[in-house]
Amino acid sequence: MAGKSIPSFQAADLVFQLLSSSTRETTADVSTFGTCFTDHMLTIEWSVTEGWQPPLIKPFENLSLHPACSSLHYGIQLFEGLKAYRGDDNRLRIFRPMLNMQRMANSAKRACLPAFDQSELLECIRRLVEIEQDWVPHSNQGSLYIRPTFISTEPTLGLKTPTRALLYVILSPGRPYFANGGKDVSLWADPKYTRAWIGGTGDCKMGGNYGGSMFAQYEAVHYGCEQVLWLYGEDHKITEAGTMNIFLHWINEDGEEELSTPPLDGLILPGVTRQSILDITRKWDEFKVTERYLTMAQFCSALKQQRVKELFGSGTACMICPVGLILYQGENLHIPNQEKSSLLTTRLTKELEDIQYGRTASDWTLLV
Ligand code: PMP
Repeated sequence: MAGKSIPSFQAADLVFQLLSSSTRETTADVSTFGTCFTDHMLTIEWSVTEGWQPPLIKPFENLSLHPACSSLHYGIQLFEGLKAYRGDDNRLRIFRPMLNMQRMANSAKRACLPAFDQSELLECIRRLVEIEQDWVPHSNQGSLYIRPTFISTEPTLGLKTPTRALLYVILSPGRPYFANGGKDVSLWADPKYTRAWIGGTGDCKMGGNYGGSMFAQYEAVHYGCEQVLWLYGEDHKITEAGTMNIFLHWINEDGEEELSTPPLDGLILPGVTRQSILDITRKWDEFKVTERYLTMAQFCSALKQQRVKELFGSGTACMICPVGLILYQGENLHIPNQEKSSLLTTRLTKELEDIQYGRTASDWTLLV
């Protein structure tokens, strides 16, 4: 094999440089999302000439990057977000991680970053989480957020396909994150900003999608809302809410009970929580479950005719987040509150948590 490039790194080649003792007691602050990190990180280097280097688990530290590095200048980078949960049985479980690995590979392809073996990366992540297991909160609501990141380290200003890259994974323990302290979230809907477009990168988890959305988020807050409801096209199609997929539970135009979420046509981020909600509700087979666009006009008329049951966002960070209000064309659209116990969001949250915390046996979780 000498001289040949390596197609992927292998978990069996992992190199360990471990601290003799944890820094956890002195630095941990898990109250604010993403501000506390564990003792170690995983790094894997790649170059077109040498291929993938052996994966390394080493103490958490700053990166040293060339100032011309093309991930910094041109946004040639991507990331992922998934969680490990400590179950009632004290075992750690990662929720549907292969879906994140697939989405990451898809983003890498779109960013012209090199391919890798998804199962090998997952095994490296599993080993990292195993080493950091004491950081996973002993709480039936806490979790360890896993942030795989893949950046071009090309050290030139020329815009070109990267010949060098760094894949790394950092871990951040946290309490449950609620977009609005557990209350229903409010959304600002104005078609003047677009999160994603046909032929763009909305279905990939690339940093530019998020950096580019900050200004609209700033304006949403200016108008007294918590997040942006992203609309698309002349007919104001409902696409996503902040960094969540969106679901409408309603009585449709034909009088049928339906749960709808936009289709994966390139605009929409293929959320793991989204997929899980579709899988669970299709298995229940109690109402129609569709992947189709709804416009603001359809939503407003359903609201007026009292056909809206629930509107909610879904994502790894908050899992399921009910929407209470939409500010659209100068009007406050209030979404009526139902009895909590009868809500689909309450039922779905329980079903998902039971899997994540190991109360329900499921092949959706990877035991660490
Ligand atoms: N949409 C966007 C734009 C997101 O950033 C996220 C968070 N990854 C989601 C939806 C939800 O995806 P997931 O359920 O995989 O967290």
